[in-house]
Amino acid sequence: MITTDICIVGAGPVGLFSVFEAGLLKMRCHLIDALPQVGGQLSEIYPQKPIYDIPGYPTIKAQELVDNLMAQIAPFKPTFTLGERVEKVERQPDGSLIVRTSDETEVHCQVMVIAGGLGCFEPRKPEIPDLERFEGKGVAYMVKNPEKFRDKNVVIAGGGDSALDWTAYLADVAKNVTLIHRSDSFRGAPDSAEKVFKLAQHGRINLLLQSNVVGLNGNGHLKEVVVAAKDKSTTQLSSDFFIPLFGLSPKLGPIA
Ligand SMILES: Cc1cc2nc3c(=O)[nH]c(=O)nc-3n(C[C@H](O)[C@H](O)[C@H](O)COP(=O)(O)OP(=O)(O)OC[C@H]3O[C@@H](n4cnc5c(N)ncnc54)[C@H](O)[C@@H]3O)c2cc1C
Repeated sequence: MITTDICIVGAGPVGLFSVFEAGLLKMRCHLIDALPQVGGQLSEIYPQKPIYDIPGYPTIKAQELVDNLMAQIAPFKPTFTLGERVEKVERQPDGSLIVRTSDETEVHCQVMVIAGGLGCFEPRKPEIPDLERFEGKGVAYMVKNPEKFRDKNVVIAGGGDSALDWTAYLADVAKNVTLIHRSDSFRGAPDSAEKVFKLAQHGRINLLLQSNVVGLNGNGHLKEVVVAAKDKSTTQLSSDFFIPLFGLSPKLGPIA
């Protein structure tokens, strides 16, 4: 059994920084995360996405922020159990707790901190025929490594921050980026939307508003994305990758 002062469930940015705060109070921490690596959503979903709202950093990539957090907490020597989900917590007669995981790991602690975010995330999938057939063969729901898209034809769909941020970022990486959005205004940050409109004005990206992706074609790997405009006319876009970014739906686990 692992013995510690504080057991932190979730090794996302909140869990990691909790180690620093606890360390200042001379308390030892053990972190448990269902993911195989630390960093929560940042490492799992958008490691290379630039983040613009961290005080003191005009811009920092998500994984870089996680690496910095790990360096910041290193002096406090936290320990980790990764790839295991917390399933059960039992109060002991002396008031302490035993936290149990899916793999039967037991952590005995005085305090448990739940830093589980919204739980585990799954991408929201748009209703497009054959979408699942092309998963891993041109359809990707997240950008883990932008280099995968270098010199490729990329179609992104969505109107939130991720769609806007990745469109702007991949404009410098991909051969061609098309952003498709069903409306003519964006849900994402106005500044990011302005950036995307400017890129379109300068011919650096294609912007198709009031349009929807209605089909995917390809033989094995994705070759074309079929787009329907408001007047129902359709066009085929040659594409190596289609990235639908319609947000994520959280799945709450047993500690909810
Ligand atoms: C695509 C995207 C882009 C974003 N961009 C930005 C941005 O630019 N700026 C910004 O400020 N925010 C951004 N966010 C939001 C930001 O990522 C979250 O606010 C942040 O990750 C919350 O941190 P957290 O540590 O609370 O939770 P999380 O990062 O969600 O980490 C929680 C961890 O807990 C683990 N967990 C949950 N339940 C259990 C369990 N029972 N057992 C074991 N482990 C468990 C999960 O596996 C997860 O690793 C973005 C989010 C997404 C999805």
